[in-house]
Amino acid sequence: MRNHKFNGKCLCGRIRFEAEGEPLWVAHCHCNSCRRSTGAPVTTFVGFERERVTITGERKTFNSSPDVFRSFCAHCGTPLSYESERCPGEIHFYISVMDTPDVFKPQRHVFHEEHISWLELNDDLPRYEGIDRDEPSSWGPKRSSVN
Ligand SMILES: [Zn+2]
Ligand SMILES: [Zn+2]
Repeated sequence: MRNHKFNGKCLCGRIRFEAEGEPLWVAHCHCNSCRRSTGAPVTTFVGFERERVTITGERKTFNSSPDVFRSFCAHCGTPLSYESERCPGEIHFYISVMDTPDVFKPQRHVFHEEHISWLELNDDLPRYEGIDRDEPSSWGPKRSSVN
C-alpha cells in the first residue's frame, strides 16, 4: 500500500482527512476506554505518520488520560482519532471512519484482557495483554495503560 492515499470522514462530513503512505499498523483494541469512547464492543485502529495526514474541519479533543488525545466531531459526535505522547508522530484513526476499511488487515488484538467475555472473534491473530513493547516502536511501553 506504499504511496497510497487513504481518505476518511465523520458521519456528517464536516471533518475530512487524507492519509498518505503505508499504514504503520492495524489492531483491534479491547480496552474499556475505547469501548466507552466509541460505543462499540471492540475498536479497530489504523495508524499513520501524523505529518502525512491532512485534516480539514475542526476536531474537538478529549484527554482520556493525561497524555492521550481522542478527537471527535462536535457536530455529529463521530469518534475520529487517538493520539498519545507515547506514540510521538503518529495518529491512529478508528478504522470505521476510513472510506476503505476493507484494505486494512488487522494484525493483532491489544488489551485483550479487557475484552467483553461474550465477544470472541474468529481469527488467529495474536492476543496481547496491554501492548507488547517487543512489537514495533509505535506500540508504546509494555503493559502500560495507554488507553
Ligand atoms: Zn461530523
Ligand atoms: Zn483502546
